[in-house]
Amino acid sequence: MSDPLNIPSRKEVLSDYQSSGQDFVAVYPIHYHRALLRAHDLMPVELWGPSQYSTTSADAHLQAYTCSVVRCGLSFALDGGLEKARAIIVPHSCDSLQGLGSVFLDFIQPKTPVLTLYVPRGRREMDVEFFARELMALDKSLAKITGKRPSEKMLHSFIDNEQKADSAMEAVLNNRIRIPMSNRQFYELMRTRQYVAAEKFEKLARDTLESMQQDNRTDCSHKLVISGLVPEPAELLSVMDDAGLTVVWDDTACIGRRIYPETDDADPYVRMARSILGAPPDSALGSSVEARLAHLLDLTRNKQAQGVVFWSVKFCEPELFYLPQLSRGLELAGIRTLLLEVDISEPASAQVQTRLEAFAESLT
Ligand code: SF4
Repeated sequence: MSDPLNIPSRKEVLSDYQSSGQDFVAVYPIHYHRALLRAHDLMPVELWGPSQYSTTSADAHLQAYTCSVVRCGLSFALDGGLEKARAIIVPHSCDSLQGLGSVFLDFIQPKTPVLTLYVPRGRREMDVEFFARELMALDKSLAKITGKRPSEKMLHSFIDNEQKADSAMEAVLNNRIRIPMSNRQFYELMRTRQYVAAEKFEKLARDTLESMQQDNRTDCSHKLVISGLVPEPAELLSVMDDAGLTVVWDDTACIGRRIYPETDDADPYVRMARSILGAPPDSALGSSVEARLAHLLDLTRNKQAQGVVFWSVKFCEPELFYLPQLSRGLELAGIRTLLLEVDISEPASAQVQTRLEAFAESLT
């Protein structure tokens, strides 16, 4: 399948930012609001790895059972990969990321400012109010770096752009089965949301929707939902392509769980907070097992998926905690499940590839 969209790579986009003098901020997973950074004229570039990056530099600073997302991310920073960033943001998404924030602030103390953000684990009105205050505090910290104080009007305008980009992403996912792209290409497109401007992503998504077929693709023998953190190593997407598996919905923390609902609060900080806390059920937002299971059952039924692949990162405790009950609930409903546990610092093992191929065969 061809790539008529000319999907820009992270490297190309970063190189464009640097040659044009555009400041950018490195953001670790998972939840934050891009509009806040854009209002400070900072481009967010997310760091979910990098995948297959040596963790040697980080290993001395972290416990052996820290996940590879954090180990690769810290190594990349220690090797000088973030020196050109204007700031580094570490949301407190899990204990490992909270630890990463402490390693930066208490031990490494890089020249680049490091800012943290506590994301509540509940969705009550008091959580929204708390998170709004966290976002306001982050705004003040960014102001010390950029010298800017964005007006409420400006914040609302950037929030509008992000909402349009999220709605375009949802439309692309909803029409996945009519889009003539391999899983690998499809994920390259979806993951540009992690480093291009919302306006640019919205255009890519709209162009994709214009190119879709009138009817469902005929080359999808089995439909899958992917759940987990991040679809790395990406070669596994090609294994799925070769095995005739098509991902019809994404429930990963880096994509589907960050399609935030539209909000219209007059206060832009409350509006951003309510939007993030209105995200689909997510371990990082403290959702119950029941809420996550109901969500996955709805997705598989609506998309007529035969299976769910839990694409899990080794030592990712927040996700692993849910998996036994989620798998049992789905299997009881007739949905096949597969747990793939990967270390993103390494290529996909032959064993993981074989398990994926065997899973595809079991769906026939
Ligand atoms: S993979 Fe899991 S443990 Fe690691 S940073 Fe992400 S949520 Fe935290």
